[in-house]
Amino acid sequence: MNILERYHAMEYGPAPEARNEADAWLAARDFGKALFIGGDWKAASGGKTFDTSEPSSGKLLARVSDANASDIDAAVSAAAKALPKWSASSGYQRAKVLYAIGRAMQRHQRLFAVLETIDNGKPIRESRDIDVPLAIRHFLHHAGWAQALDRDFPGHKGVGVVGQIIPWNFPLLMLAWKIAPALAVGCTVVLKPAEFTPLTSILFAEICERAGVPKGVVNIVQGGPEAGAAIVNHPGIQKIAFTGSSEVGKIIRKATAGSGKKLSLELGGKSAFIVFEDADLDSAVEGLVDGIWFNQGQVCCAGSRLLVQEGIADALIAKVKTRMSRLRVGSPLDKNTDIGPLVDLTQLDRVKGLIAEGARQGAVCWQPDAALPSSGYYHLPTLATGVSPANILAQEEVFGPVLATMTFRNTEEAIELANNTRYGLAASVWSENVNLALHVAPQLKAGVVWINGTNMFDAACGFGGYRESGFGREGGREGMFEYLSAKLPLGPVIKPATSSAQPVEQADGVGIDRTAKLFIGGKQVRPDGNYSLAVATAKGKLAGEVGLGSRKDIRDAVSAARACKTWPEATAYNRSQVLYYLAENLSGRASEFAARLTELTGANAKAARDEVELSIERLFLYAGLADKFEGRVHQPPARAVTLALHEPVGVVGIVAPDNQPLLGFISLVAPALAMGNTVVAVPSERYPLLATDLYQVIEYSDVPAGAINIVTGRSAELAGVLAKHDDVDGLWLFADAETCAKAEADSIGNLKRVWSGNGRGLDWGSEEAAGDALLRRAIEVKNVWVPYGD
Ligand code: NAD
Repeated sequence: MNILERYHAMEYGPAPEARNEADAWLAARDFGKALFIGGDWKAASGGKTFDTSEPSSGKLLARVSDANASDIDAAVSAAAKALPKWSASSGYQRAKVLYAIGRAMQRHQRLFAVLETIDNGKPIRESRDIDVPLAIRHFLHHAGWAQALDRDFPGHKGVGVVGQIIPWNFPLLMLAWKIAPALAVGCTVVLKPAEFTPLTSILFAEICERAGVPKGVVNIVQGGPEAGAAIVNHPGIQKIAFTGSSEVGKIIRKATAGSGKKLSLELGGKSAFIVFEDADLDSAVEGLVDGIWFNQGQVCCAGSRLLVQEGIADALIAKVKTRMSRLRVGSPLDKNTDIGPLVDLTQLDRVKGLIAEGARQGAVCWQPDAALPSSGYYHLPTLATGVSPANILAQEEVFGPVLATMTFRNTEEAIELANNTRYGLAASVWSENVNLALHVAPQLKAGVVWINGTNMFDAACGFGGYRESGFGREGGREGMFEYLSAKLPLGPVIKPATSSAQPVEQADGVGIDRTAKLFIGGKQVRPDGNYSLAVATAKGKLAGEVGLGSRKDIRDAVSAARACKTWPEATAYNRSQVLYYLAENLSGRASEFAARLTELTGANAKAARDEVELSIERLFLYAGLADKFEGRVHQPPARAVTLALHEPVGVVGIVAPDNQPLLGFISLVAPALAMGNTVVAVPSERYPLLATDLYQVIEYSDVPAGAINIVTGRSAELAGVLAKHDDVDGLWLFADAETCAKAEADSIGNLKRVWSGNGRGLDWGSEEAAGDALLRRAIEVKNVWVPYGD
């Protein structure tokens, strides 16, 4: 054998990470008292425990206390007791505690990494170089936010006691993403880790003791779905932050409906990894290794769908296979290991089942010729080709080391394929042409887009999804808002509308009969059912009739809103001009609208004039802000910039209130339009003529057809239709409490973002009910990572 042959034949020797410190920690602890509540270590009151074992061998690691509902109750009480003092402490005091946590974690960095690897199965290289440093960075970064609250979030304060539920794939990192912002804003927390991976959270609780976190500020309870459900349903909790599967996310959305709890959901994904023909293929292959085989593919934002341009498909697939053959599958504690075991046997069986089903549906599944360790839940990296867009491997989140490949011909097809999923978490775009990449990124329905890169994260940059990948963001400024609330001045309690059938007396005098229709796709159209609704004046006479909209009309309106591309694609300057023009045209008819308000609501002349004036002012405000409520550029500690872009939510349904009916309608519709959303609005059921009188104003203000659609009728019924409609992306609801709760529960089909007044209106005349508070609800933040360097 010559030197070159020897060189090529060289194998890696074993490079195991020592585990004695971790074993000593495991041996010394009493896991039967693993609930960290009010600063004390407690056994589960029901005496139950669950086992956590080592995925690389199946061996038992610990028997851990399994919390029941009364333990959760104790944890919530401890958090509530600690809240007043913690929330009243100065930003500096909280910053010092967060800083102390970060520093203490740094001192025990290695123990955290080894424990994480033993408990979860992820390669030590990943836990040591990614999970733990990022978790520490989160605490150190948020120490700064604690002191910057008044500066950056004026008028906001922490929401209170927060319930947090996390998955097993990044146990410590997800804990950090949850606890750091909550503590920074002065919330106290009850956090439940996943039942497969409790260990690093227990070590973290020890760190809290040492870092001087006041008792009860951080409570960490162990357990499974039952403990999770007890957190979700606990009335003493003001916000639920959940990371996990879309399936459980939907259960939680339903369970919290009508409770007024703030909610953020970070759920699953089926992210596209798009390679254009001008990409640097070797870099793309390395990116792919990181994109799909990082953490054995058990990553919410795993690039599990490879979309490759036809001309380079064969070349890229050949390179991928060669690289896959070199991936080292083995002990996660070995520093040379690329792929460790999956977390549990159930997960391994699930992955095998999905691959078998994918193959049955026509995919060709290839694996490198390599041996697996004799014990443990290992699975070889798998490449599926010949995958049709409908194949289960292209649609379902596998959460394992499986890459599904499809090809595309041109940019439009790439975007279409990428968006052909119910999820919307992340995407990677590979092209040496930055113009092309930045052209594609905004068109992808995903909360995070990496250009020529993948799986880049930082505490300063928000992370989170669109569609069924959930709502809310973690990290960055947008992540802070998830734990903050600002007092919005409430309007009156909204009562359910009484039945319509009451006769309305004819008005005196005979004018020309005008029938208000619906406004859909830029046209006035008759309601599908051909029924109408009588509208009464303040004196109980007939003011007119409006169309009684139905499910079919909402469907048409949503189609028209979806089909309107010119509005979301218009420049912000353009949208601003149209909103100014609306204001101008409304102003031209101000006295007519004031008279209408007086006629319908009985408002005196001055109050009516003021409401119209304020409505015009609001249009002006949002016209002005349309091109000012912009995104930001972050500079994370990497050779990259992150563009935090503001994008419209999409099609937004609006159920407008009865109080201040013109101002309320405009206060909701204008910010949605300003940010580029298209709108399906249901005006006040009692005073719909104020909205139908706007048709002509809209018609001669250059609003593109479909940008705003108005369906009059029964608010509760139409709210229900909007809530269940899977092509509506957001729903803003000012209706009675029961309608709001029902709509929240009904929104789970596509996990649309619902903002509800929970049975209260707002005081639309107040300054707080205008501006950023509404604009923030009208956008999604998309973080586009653009690396730089040679
Ligand atoms: P899971 O939904 O089964 O469990 C997540 C957590 O919820 C666990 O702590 C579990 O005990 C708890 N839970 C289960 N049922 C519950 C219920 N009915 N009520 C309350 N809590 C309940 O998810 P998993 O299998 O642990 O994690 C994998 C999922 O997490 C994947 O879908 C992945 O994409 C997702 N994930 C998302 C992100 C993100 O940021 N978007 C990050 C990591 C993981």
